[in-house]
Amino acid sequence: MSSIELRAVEKWFGDVQVIKGVDLAIEEGEFIIFVGPSGCGKSTLLRMIAGLEETSRGQVLIDGRDATAEAPSQRGLTMVFQSYALYPHMSVRENMGFSLKAAGVAKSEIVEKVDRAADVLKLGDYLDRRPKDLSGGQRQRVAIGRSIVRDPTAFLFDEPLSNLDAALRVEMRYEIAKLHRSLQATMIYVTHDQVEAMTLADRIVVLEAGRIAQIGSPRELYERPANLFVAQFIGSPK
Ligand code: ADP
Ligand code: MG
Repeated sequence: MSSIELRAVEKWFGDVQVIKGVDLAIEEGEFIIFVGPSGCGKSTLLRMIAGLEETSRGQVLIDGRDATAEAPSQRGLTMVFQSYALYPHMSVRENMGFSLKAAGVAKSEIVEKVDRAADVLKLGDYLDRRPKDLSGGQRQRVAIGRSIVRDPTAFLFDEPLSNLDAALRVEMRYEIAKLHRSLQATMIYVTHDQVEAMTLADRIVVLEAGRIAQIGSPRELYERPANLFVAQFIGSPK
């Protein structure tokens, strides 16, 4: 498990500033959700934590060490992509083991790790199938499984459920909550779905145009929204 801290983080694309000085301390094992309207900077902030996007100013600390200049692979975190990023020509087992194989991990260890992840995700009966022969929810589970096998200290999710239908979203939301309980891993999760945020998060970070409008537990945000923007976004009766 990792603690992650952002200190005065800024992001500029050319001369346009999209992240405007974000300070945030995420505790080990916490489930943190970034919410906010489209274009407010959720993905950019997540990608800076992952190292997929350079930090223009400020620092990203992981377990107290300055990771701002570290490559993604050095950070010990994993980004869970949407399920359409699966390799169509590979089986579920091959998809889940691919990154370990690429890293030169021994075959027996890959089998063991994929089996363990498949067990957690209830994919044991589907390991020989191709992605096209799975349901949307199963595919998303494979996408998560690809991350689990790396034993990451934190999981980063960018709207993982947004391309699933409503019923599957509810089911997967429940699965992700279970996963968090069983792995006790730090999770940072981006969504624009208020219900997802309210049901999954230990704390919610509301972003407004590249700044933090408010941080708090779902209940705090609902009962004491800092301003009208937060109230409207969270749907509280202010
Ligand atoms: P969100 O995930 O909240 O919808 P993003 O983080 O994707 O928002 O984008 C925040 C802002 O940064 C938007 O105005 C977007 O157009 C801009 N942006 C994102 N990526 C780039 C890029 N590679 N180059 C230029 N502008 C970008
Ligand atoms: Mg986004």
